[in-house]
Amino acid sequence: MGTMEGLDVTDCERCDALVESRSRIVNGVGPEDAALLFVGEAPGEREDAEGEPFVGRSGAVLDEVLRDNGLARGDVRITNCVRCRPPGNRDPTGEELSNCRGYLEAEVEAVDPEVLVTLGKVPSQHLLGRDVAITSEAGSVEAVELGGAARDVLLCVHPAASLYDRSQRETLERAIEKAATMAGAGDQSTLGSF
Ligand code: URA
Repeated sequence: MGTMEGLDVTDCERCDALVESRSRIVNGVGPEDAALLFVGEAPGEREDAEGEPFVGRSGAVLDEVLRDNGLARGDVRITNCVRCRPPGNRDPTGEELSNCRGYLEAEVEAVDPEVLVTLGKVPSQHLLGRDVAITSEAGSVEAVELGGAARDVLLCVHPAASLYDRSQRETLERAIEKAATMAGAGDQSTLGSF
């Protein structure tokens, strides 16, 4: 493992290809006691440039759907299975996922969220440890042993999938609505408080 300071990985060289392709390590953002923890796949180009998960086009969709459910981005925690951008945005390999797994588990254990929401097929399969047909399984909840406890994992499509596909957008909206209800998250929203 590399070095962690709190929930942030400050130094890690476990994956040769990712050390080469990344500009920086992209750690999770949001409250360390968030009720909702969103888990994406890996940073893309914008995330790698800015050092924050989901700040590109997918992030804009996520922000919009959160807002529709009375949540601001700052109300939730957002992280990725892998913290370094893979070359050309390819999917992370099994080895890269497992190299980064300990950081994710440490984050899950510390945040101790009510619900984890997987954004897309890669994080869904990684957390559930099985094949997932994400389009048909989105919205379902499964209990998974993770970060020292049984956790509710709500499966969700990746926001990028909804950019050009209306039905995926509706699937995303319904899943996030369900996550917000499960976490009672609207109650803690900072939206409208300033
Ligand atoms: N897609 C992801 O899976 N994660 C990000 O941080 C951005 C886009």
